[in-house]
Amino acid sequence: MTEGYIKFNPQWIKEPITVANELLAEINQIRSALKAKGYLGVLPNGIGFGNISIRDGNSNRFIITGSSTGGIMVLENSHLALVESTSIENNSLVCRGLSAASSESMSHAIIYKTVPSANAVIHVHDSKGWEKSLNLLPTTDQKVEYGTPEMAFSIQRLIMETKMERGVLVMGGHEDGLIAFGSNLEESLFLLENEL
Ligand SMILES: [Zn+2]
Repeated sequence: MTEGYIKFNPQWIKEPITVANELLAEINQIRSALKAKGYLGVLPNGIGFGNISIRDGNSNRFIITGSSTGGIMVLENSHLALVESTSIENNSLVCRGLSAASSESMSHAIIYKTVPSANAVIHVHDSKGWEKSLNLLPTTDQKVEYGTPEMAFSIQRLIMETKMERGVLVMGGHEDGLIAFGSNLEESLFLLENEL
């Protein structure tokens, strides 16, 4: 642990949430495409990777695929989390659902807070794409580690400097980590696949 590291502190309200059937179908469709290419899934040690989220209306709340769901083929409402609020400074969030939101939700949250036109965020792991795009696409500070408030702030700085409204970011300090965002899930997937 780095000195001064703030431990991720989720407040999880463990109760059922329900999203529209069309949204659930769309989430599953995008996930299937990502899983087929190995961008989202589960490592041999059982740890899941990759997640997708979608903004809830005009708010800064969002629905995100839950923690430890990477290995599941078809998600149901019980595999989703609604992130109701976040405090990047305190590395804390409030989420609702039968699955908890992962610490990577902070990277999604900062995009919704910074880019009003961003409605869908996709985070994947891909070593080839990461190596190829490192420092060619907008890249967060390589000294900044995954799951820290500094990662979220690094994403925010990068978006503001480059005036990005959509596109793909490389997480410099999170090996294999890439983030795509756009006005909807389909656009985010399209932008991501263009770069991989
Ligand atoms: Zn990741």
